[in-house]
Amino acid sequence: MRFKEVIGQQKLKSDLIRAVLADKISHAQLFSGQAGFGTLPLALAYIQFLFCEQKQTDDSCGECASCKKVEKLQHPDLHFAFPIVPNENSNKPSISDDFISDWREQIRENPYFNLVDWTKKIDVKERKTVIRVDESKEILRKLSLKSFEGSYKIMLIWNPEEMNTACSNKLLKILEEPPAQTLFLLVSDKPDNLLLTIQSRTQKIRIPKIELALLSLYLQEKNQLTSVQADSIASFAEGNLLLAKEFMEASVNQSIYVDLFMVLMRVCYKKDVIAMMDWAEKISVEGKETQKLFLIYALHMFRQSNISNYIGESLMRVSKEEEEFLVKFAPFISGNNIREFISTFDDAYYHLERNANSKILFTQLCFQVMRFIHQA
Ligand SMILES: [Zn+2]
Repeated sequence: MRFKEVIGQQKLKSDLIRAVLADKISHAQLFSGQAGFGTLPLALAYIQFLFCEQKQTDDSCGECASCKKVEKLQHPDLHFAFPIVPNENSNKPSISDDFISDWREQIRENPYFNLVDWTKKIDVKERKTVIRVDESKEILRKLSLKSFEGSYKIMLIWNPEEMNTACSNKLLKILEEPPAQTLFLLVSDKPDNLLLTIQSRTQKIRIPKIELALLSLYLQEKNQLTSVQADSIASFAEGNLLLAKEFMEASVNQSIYVDLFMVLMRVCYKKDVIAMMDWAEKISVEGKETQKLFLIYALHMFRQSNISNYIGESLMRVSKEEEEFLVKFAPFISGNNIREFISTFDDAYYHLERNANSKILFTQLCFQVMRFIHQA
C-alpha cells in the first residue's frame, strides 16, 4: 500500500521517507504501537516505498512492477512471519506460509487488524496462536537465499512477541549480524513482551496514535457521521482506529454507553444501593465486549470531565448530550478522586479481560464509585 492510504501519521511518514531517500536504513527495526494506530499499514507502505522503482518525494508510485508486487504481497524478496495455529496432526513443520493466502486476503480486505481479528480469521475455534521454532528455521532459510531482484530482502515479523523462546533465541544471531541487504521489520503491539536481547538489537520506531482530527475526518467520510459524533469517537478511541470501529459496531446505538454511565453516576451520587445493584445486574448480562467498551467509555468521560474542570469546556470532545451531563457532573471529579476513578476503571478492565465474574466486578465498581464521588 502507499503512504497516502495510511490514515494520518504525517510526521512519521515523512521521517520514514527521508530515511530511505538518505539511504539510512537500519537493518533491524521495531515498529511498535497499537495495531489500531496503523503499525502494519505503515510498515507495508514503508516497504513499498523502499522497493519502488520510481519513488516520488512523498510516496511510492503505485505503478511500477515492484509496487505492484508489494501491493499483492507477492514480491519475491518480501517475506512474512506471523502467529499461526500449528497443525498438530501433520508431520510437516507448521509455518506462516501455510496461511499466506489468508494473510494476503486479510490485508487486501483491511490492513488494520489485530491478533484477535487474525486468530478469528484463521481458526474457527480461535485457539491460541504462536510463532514456533519451525518458523525461525524457515526465516533463516529464506534469508540465506540471494535477493531475487538485487535489492533488499525483507522479513516482516508481525506480532514478534508471540515467538516462543526457542524461536526468539534462534534469531538472535541473524539479528545481530544479518546478511548484507537484509532488513528485519518487527511490527509489535506489545514490544515490552519481546526478549530484551531482541529489543536491544533493533532500532525502535514508536508509532503514535492517529492524529484525532485526521481520524475524525476519516470516520466522517467512511461512516456518515457528523463532525461532533466523529470527534467524540476519535477522542474516546484515543486515536485508535480499531477501537473506534469496535465502539461503532458494538452498538448501532451508542447511547447505551452514555446511559450506563449517566445512570451509574446518578445512583452512586444518591447512594441508592438498590438502584446500584440493579445497574450492576443490568450490565452484567451484557456481552463482554460491551462491558469492556463501557469501561473504556467511562475512562474517556473521566478524562473529559477533568479537562472541563481544569482547562475549560472548549477542549471537550463530546456530544451535546454528554456535554450537558458533564457540565453538571464535572464538579464531582476533582484532584481528590480523578486518579482513583481512572485506576479503578483500568483495573476493572484488566480483571474483566481475565474473566473475572462480571456481576461481582460491577457491583464492587458501584461501591467504589460511590465512595469516590463523595470524596470530591
Ligand atoms: Zn513504484
